Amino acid sequence: MAKKPSILIVYTGGTIGMVKDYETGALRAFDFSQISSKIPELQHLHCSIDTISFEDPIDSSNMNIDYYIQIAEMIAKNYHDYDGFVVLTGSDTMSYTSSAISFMFENLQKPVIFTGSQLPIGDLRTDAKENLITSVQIAAAQENGSPVIQEVGLYFEYKLYRANRTTKISAEQFEAFSSMNYPPLVESGVHLNFNYPLLLRPEGKAEDLIFRKKLDNNIAILKLFPGITERVVRSYLQIEGLKGIILEAYGAGNAPSEPWFLEILKEFQEQGIYVVDITQCEGGSVILGHYETSAALRNLGVINGKDITTETAVAKMMYLLGENLTKSEFKRYFEQALRGEMSN
Ligand code: ASP
Repeated sequence: MAKKPSILIVYTGGTIGMVKDYETGALRAFDFSQISSKIPELQHLHCSIDTISFEDPIDSSNMNIDYYIQIAEMIAKNYHDYDGFVVLTGSDTMSYTSSAISFMFENLQKPVIFTGSQLPIGDLRTDAKENLITSVQIAAAQENGSPVIQEVGLYFEYKLYRANRTTKISAEQFEAFSSMNYPPLVESGVHLNFNYPLLLRPEGKAEDLIFRKKLDNNIAILKLFPGITERVVRSYLQIEGLKGIILEAYGAGNAPSEPWFLEILKEFQEQGIYVVDITQCEGGSVILGHYETSAALRNLGVINGKDITTETAVAKMMYLLGENLTKSEFKRYFEQALRGEMSN
């Protein structure tokens, strides 16, 4: 009989690892190594499961690049010993974290599935059980001896998405994430339905995993709104050490065509600060030059973020800044899909 797939659950914190004290009503973290006492069903899955945990689990609002490296190192160290990985984090920043991890691993050939929950594992109405059990099942799914999923995914409420296509859209609904520009990779109904043509396959053959952990967070987001003042936009020029700005523009990537705005964009270029144009819309893409209001951006050398999400633009910028690229390499890599994060 074929060997059972082995899955490593990496617990970093978040609501999923909490139990409710029914006497006081307060939520408290529980010892995650005892997970099978909370979800005994895990023992009945056709795989072996081990768990590791952050020493001090965190609320994901405290997530930062040091923790990204910690998560990625836990996976890299165990990469050859397990068939798949399930990473539990709080949902609040899960799209940022999972996107960052997707860039940190090049030539990934095993599943890394992020999940969490809206209600703690110890709550009677919890969504944690289904999210965790199905994530483990997806991570353990194999075909002809290879994992079906060979990328970083995010599973929540019956859908596995490509992680770097997701956004958290609800603090209330169990269906907390959306992926407007890329369909789900797996849908969980009576059966697990894998959408095979959508799955990412690493280009290299059986090459080893390439682990890149130099991230640079000298970046900022500039979200436009009607009435934004020159003073506010100009203040970004004063940020010491700033290397990149994600410009959350309107619609198909449009921005004001007022001379002061274009002048400041020119100054960003002169200071060597990269500017990436993305859209505030949840769905759809930047089309630089489609309107006069974005043609000016293109002429100023602004990078086209196409249909990338804000969360993934942040992660990609941190990753590419860490790679010491020339100006033209940076633009070229940003404008092409490296991990399926944008449409080419
Ligand atoms: N505040 C929590 C966190 O992101 C919410 C959650 O776990 O979903 O850590």
